[in-house]
Amino acid sequence: MDIEFNLINPEQRKQKPDNISTVQFGTTFTDHMLTMRYRNGSWHSPQIVPYQPLSIDPAALVLHYGQGIFEGLKAYRRGTDVFLFRPDNNFERLNNSARRMVMPEIDPKLSLNLLKELLKVECEWIPDSLGTSLYIRPTMIATEPKLGVRPSEEYLFYIILSPVGPYFKEGFGPISIMIAEQHVRAAEGGVGVAKTMGNYAASLMAGTKSRDLGYSQVLWLDASHRKYLEEVGTMNIFVVFDDEVATPILGGTILPGITRDSVMKLAEHWGMQITERNIDVAEVIDGIKTGKVKEIFGCGTAAVIAPIGHLHYQNERHTVNSGSVGPLSQRLYDTLTRLQCGESDDPFNWVIKVS
Ligand SMILES: *Cc1c(COP(=O)(O)O)cnc(C)c1O
Repeated sequence: MDIEFNLINPEQRKQKPDNISTVQFGTTFTDHMLTMRYRNGSWHSPQIVPYQPLSIDPAALVLHYGQGIFEGLKAYRRGTDVFLFRPDNNFERLNNSARRMVMPEIDPKLSLNLLKELLKVECEWIPDSLGTSLYIRPTMIATEPKLGVRPSEEYLFYIILSPVGPYFKEGFGPISIMIAEQHVRAAEGGVGVAKTMGNYAASLMAGTKSRDLGYSQVLWLDASHRKYLEEVGTMNIFVVFDDEVATPILGGTILPGITRDSVMKLAEHWGMQITERNIDVAEVIDGIKTGKVKEIFGCGTAAVIAPIGHLHYQNERHTVNSGSVGPLSQRLYDTLTRLQCGESDDPFNWVIKVS
């Protein structure tokens, strides 16, 4: 499929931030974006155009019934080399989300090619210092104007780019999280497994409450028993119990994180025992008290690894690993961040060189 390019003049390009590490995550966008339309049963007219507001009908289905999905991945640069980390997994997951939300799939080869073309145009925007990257947000929305609950027949796919530093204001350091006791993120049979917009809207109330109390994320428990760990904010979670590294089973309510999968494969590669199982919150609290819990960390593309220093549950604040970064969190963070920018061995061939 031919891409139409409509680029701005070089002198119209926006000024890039001097120090990306100090810019708040996801607040700066590059000069261009990619768009592609779906109509009459197929995708057509991919374009790279100046970054600009979208014009969509106020009756567009996404605005009323939330038929919208997205992805999140990053591009890294070292000198003139640009790298992507497991991008095929993101585009496969976009299609999984699309199927769940009755939206059209996109050939993952096409999505990746479109992204590569956009990155070529925007390569100057990719920061190249350690811990910085260009965050990529592929998005698909239902654009057909119709006030009736049914799948849209028209869609817009677009990709926007945002140069980023650390996700949390703490940088890479232990964060404090609060276990949600009143709200749940996803229930069995629901859409927790899809990266769909409504999941994040549904999380805002608990998220706001936790931030008001000084915590940076919510740890979700399962909807049926309110006792098994699910996810932390928009990250998957790992708990180190003595020499067991445990993470919740993907039971349909948890987003299958690519970082989660990478953590599991790396830890196994290092000879550690990884278990996917139900993790009871009581076992965690008890383990913190007895010292059996050595580390807890979240993981996701945005933050990479987020060590958890404090955990709030039932009006008590528990300190994990004396509130400091544990050795596995540190090793994973160092390994992943160096691997992602092409600086170290890549035993699993995860890194793709774009240019
Ligand atoms: C995106 C996301 C993750 C992390 O997935 P990665 O592929 O590792 O970035 C975890 N949980 C939720 C709810 C998410 O939206």
